Amino acid sequence: MIQLFHVSKYYDRRLALADVTLEIEKGEFVLLMGASGAGKSTLLKLLIGAERPEEGQILVQGRSLSKLRPSEIPVLRRKIGVVLQDFRLLPKKTVFDNVSLPLLVQGASTVEIRRKVTDALRSVGLDHKKDLFPPGLSTGEQQRICIARAIVNGPIMLLADEPTGNLDPELTSEIIELFKSINARGTTIIVATHDPNVLAQVNRRVIILDQGKVVSREQVCP
Ligand code: ADP
Ligand code: ADP
Repeated sequence: MIQLFHVSKYYDRRLALADVTLEIEKGEFVLLMGASGAGKSTLLKLLIGAERPEEGQILVQGRSLSKLRPSEIPVLRRKIGVVLQDFRLLPKKTVFDNVSLPLLVQGASTVEIRRKVTDALRSVGLDHKKDLFPPGLSTGEQQRICIARAIVNGPIMLLADEPTGNLDPELTSEIIELFKSINARGTTIIVATHDPNVLAQVNRRVIILDQGKVVSREQVCP
């Protein structure tokens, strides 16, 4: 699904990722760990084509990202759901409208939007809150809405950058369980985190970055 070959990324002259080679298979649930500044976010940005590496090759579904035409980047992004630490929900739009945004951008029909948004909200257990506004929801619910928005397109993979950064251990568990159920339906999941609570709960492969280098890639258990 994802292959990186000798990928290096610099910001000015500062090395953010150094000669990273790794492979992530379809259906995997991978944790990307490492201290702040280790390069986790940079790696996720490379995967969605938001940044380009100075060196190396990145393949997603066998296609080299460096060979994508600019018009193909949105097509790539549509296949990838993204969840961030700060939710970036629109406060003056309803839950339904927030989740429907990626579909609106693509010009989906009203019928398709209703069906997909309803499915996504059911997946996160919040269909009954569709007419509320984000500020009226709890923190955990807001993150679940973000996850609904990220999966509304039926992405092949879901990337999450510190998705539990603002959540207590109990809500962190809820979010991880939700990722597990999305993963069980076939979506590849990559979660960047330095949260030991997440590690304790996700008994899967862990890729550890340190100062831009992969220092360990443990196969914990399949
Ligand atoms: P992490 O997500 O593990 O905290 P990042 O990928 O955000 O790490 O950062 C890796 C390194 O790259 C850090 O030294 C960071 O300061 C630097 N960096 C990240 N983004 C930028 C940027 N847009 N401009 C300059 N330096 C950056
Ligand atoms: P994270 O640790 O999740 O990467 P940050 O707060 O470090 O989040 O980064 C927030 C934003 O600032 C990101 O877009 C990142 O690329 C950018 N950034 C990070 N480090 C630097 C830096 N040293 N100089 C400029 N921009 C940076």
